[in-house]
Amino acid sequence: MLTHNDHIALALSGGKDSLTLLNILAKLERKFPRSKLSAICVDEGIEGYRDEALLLAAKECDRLGVNQLTVSYKELFGTTTDEIVKLNLGKTPCSYCGVLRRKAINRAAVMVGATKIATAHNLDDEVQTVLLNMLHGDPMRIIRSAPVLRDVKGKFLTRIKPLCDIPEKEVVLYAYLTDLEFQTIACPHGSEALRNDIRIFLNQMDQKHPGTKFTLQRTAERLRELLVNIAPPTGLNECERCGDPTPHQICEACLMLETVVA
Ligand SMILES: [Zn+2]
Repeated sequence: MLTHNDHIALALSGGKDSLTLLNILAKLERKFPRSKLSAICVDEGIEGYRDEALLLAAKECDRLGVNQLTVSYKELFGTTTDEIVKLNLGKTPCSYCGVLRRKAINRAAVMVGATKIATAHNLDDEVQTVLLNMLHGDPMRIIRSAPVLRDVKGKFLTRIKPLCDIPEKEVVLYAYLTDLEFQTIACPHGSEALRNDIRIFLNQMDQKHPGTKFTLQRTAERLRELLVNIAPPTGLNECERCGDPTPHQICEACLMLETVVA
């Protein structure tokens, strides 16, 4: 996933996963003098929730001596998640927020001059996404949720998920054993209902049949190899409006912002 001279932009939310990854990458990075680590925080504008996480993130970056950049939806897109939710557009808050967060992280990573973007998705997140894609009838999307996503044209930053094989329970254990102070309250806008059902199902399966999550992860890897042979990725395009990477002509975020920013 990494080379000795990478400048990693880590998407840092202030939750247990990203603070754990921050600690591990900060330790590793010290051993490689030509590498660099920056933390990217995104303020989505969620009152009573994001402020605490941003404080915890900033505190840990200070302690570790990691350069940190915070960008906000308000300054980048002219709106916030709270404002979008008030519009009652029928879709779940996560579906808007997720698209805008990806875009914000991408912009911030370019601003700090990073060579790779790291996110703290763990094994549980990864296999939930695979099942979600299947239940949405979108198997080709499994290719795009790979642990390492390189742009075949080499124009855009590679995205990596270093914790993709680590079960959520082990990440929590690491966070407690290293006394990390992380955010524990849930987002007031709730989570995706279908993902939540899948989480419960997978936890029950893994308890009854240990190893289920790892098996599903290996199945997804093999599926990706097969899918790539059927439909080799053609590379990302520059969005016609904002220039950001997109598999389409106009990126999802630009289309979305059209409906939410009057
Ligand atoms: Zn765009």
